[in-house]
This record gives sequence, C-alpha cells and structure tokens, in this order.
Amino acid sequence: ATPLSVMVATGKGAQAGILIRSAEALETAHKLDTVVLDKTGTVTEGKPVLTDVHTAAEFDDTELLRLVAAAEADSEHPLAQAIVTAVRDRGLHPHAATGFDSVTGKGVQATVDGHSVLVGTVRLLDDSGIDTTALVPVAAAYSAEGKTPVLAAFDGRPAGVLAVADTVKDESVAAIAALKLLGIDVIIITGDNARTAAAIAAQVGVDRALAEVLPEHKAEEIHRLQNEGRTVGMVGDGINDAPALAAADIGLAIGTGTDVAIEAADITLISGSLSGVVTAIRLSRATMRNIR
Ligand code: ADP
Ligand code: MG
Repeated sequence: ATPLSVMVATGKGAQAGILIRSAEALETAHKLDTVVLDKTGTVTEGKPVLTDVHTAAEFDDTELLRLVAAAEADSEHPLAQAIVTAVRDRGLHPHAATGFDSVTGKGVQATVDGHSVLVGTVRLLDDSGIDTTALVPVAAAYSAEGKTPVLAAFDGRPAGVLAVADTVKDESVAAIAALKLLGIDVIIITGDNARTAAAIAAQVGVDRALAEVLPEHKAEEIHRLQNEGRTVGMVGDGINDAPALAAADIGLAIGTGTDVAIEAADITLISGSLSGVVTAIRLSRATMRNIR
C-alpha cells in the first residue's frame, strides 16, 4: 500500500477506536483466514460473578465459603476476586490463610487454620489424589450452563463446588457472525474446561473451542494453526495472552485489558468490543484493494 493510503486507513481506524501499530499490520490483516478469540475478557465481559454453591454433605455452606475465600484472598485470578467479593457481600468474614500457592491455570492451594484447602479445577483435585466422583456431576451441570465450576477440597476431602458465571459481551455475537461472513474461521481458546468452553462457544456461534490450554501453551496452539497453512489473528486481553498475541500473524489486544497484552499486540481495540476486529479487517481489505 502507498504511504498515503496507509495513513488514511490508520486515521480512519483511530477514529473508530482501532489503533494500528504499523503499516505492516494494516497490510497483513486482510490475509487473515482464522481468528482465535480468548474467552474470558475477550468474548465475555471478564467480570465473573458467583452464582451457585454446592456443599458436600458433611460441610456447611458458610464454612465452605469462608474457607474458599480465605484460600482465594491472595489470588489475582478474576475467579478468585469474584468469590472473595461474593463472600464478603454475604457479610461473611473469610479466615486468614497462612500459606498460599497458586497453581497456574488450575487454582490455588492454601493453609487455613492449619488445614489444607485446595480450590480449582477437577484436574487440580484429581492431581492431588482427591476423590472427585461426587463433585464431577455437579461441576458438569454448571459447565453445561457456560459457568465455570470451582471445586474445593478440605484436608484431602471433597468439600463442594462453586459456580462462577461471566456474561458474553453484547457485541460478541454480531461481531463473530460478521467475521464468519467475511469467510474467517473463528476459534475460541481458553484455560477453562472443555464443557464450559463449548457452552460459551455455542452461545456466540463459534464451532470450535480449544479448552484447558495452559497459559504457556496458548502460543503453541497459534503456531499449530499456522503450520496448517492458516494466517492467524489472535484477540486477547490478559497477561496470559501476550505470547499468543506475539505469535499470531496479527495480535489484537482488548484496550480495556492488561498493558502486557497491549504491548504484545499489533492492533489495539480501544473500546474492547470485538466489532473492532471486523472493522480492522475491513479497513485492511479496502486499503489493499485500492492499491491493486
Ligand atoms: P482462563 O483465564 O482462560 O480461565 P487460566 O489459565 O487463568 O485461564 O485458568 C484456567 C482455569 O483454572 C480457570 O478456568 C479455572 O477453572 C482454574 N483456575 C485458575 N486460577 C484459579 C483460582 N485462583 N481459583 C479457582 N480456579 C482457578
Ligand atoms: Mg482473558
């Protein structure tokens, strides 16, 4: 593209809240045939809310919530913040944790009043040898509703399941439909479990979801798609997403997300709306059409 057409398109993008970092990014965006969307904070609002509490028979709801909130108090994960907020809102005071470890992409382990509290995915509890057979059907039911199940164990015993739900952004459905009309394959990627990922994907009209992808493996998934011969755009908001944003042919950061994601990206969508992805690709296509 000529420097002038790039300048004009970049200016139009800026007016629409789309910051295109380089001429190269503008020129590459028209080639995208695949767009990978991070789930939490990109397709969804990223503001999870506690919706359900299931307590195993021998425990009591209040005790479970206070223990889980204690374990989650030091975690920066949005799920943890949702749980801690909800527990405080119920007027409950979490216990104080004395030891805390986060298990990336799986949950947290903490010591509370001398007891071991484990909070996170089915896999996290399974990995610790905890019998999850009573909790798994509950977790599966929450997942089928698109909620994320958070399992808890107390001193090695299954204690309960909390459900945390995150709403799909208003514009996600329309933006994804528009991408598909442009002939682009849309894929959701998430660290969340396969059932929850599939339920959210179905809600927004996406046919394929890559689930249980650990943060350090998101970039590998992008490379795998590129090795299939695809030209891949990645849209994300989190620190987790930065390597994948950098690995993609075009990284698009949600402007309301973390600075680390914005720095790794080629394009920033200031408003955070997925419709910006459609606009960016259209601008690129129009620019490249003009010079041919
Ligand atoms: P994502 O942000 O896409 O959900 P993460 O890699 O951050 O991906 O987390 C993957 C999964 O691990 C989450 O969906 C959740 O089930 C579990 N998890 C991670 N951190 C926590 C936590 N602090 N408390 C409970 N569950 C957690
Ligand atoms: Mg995210």
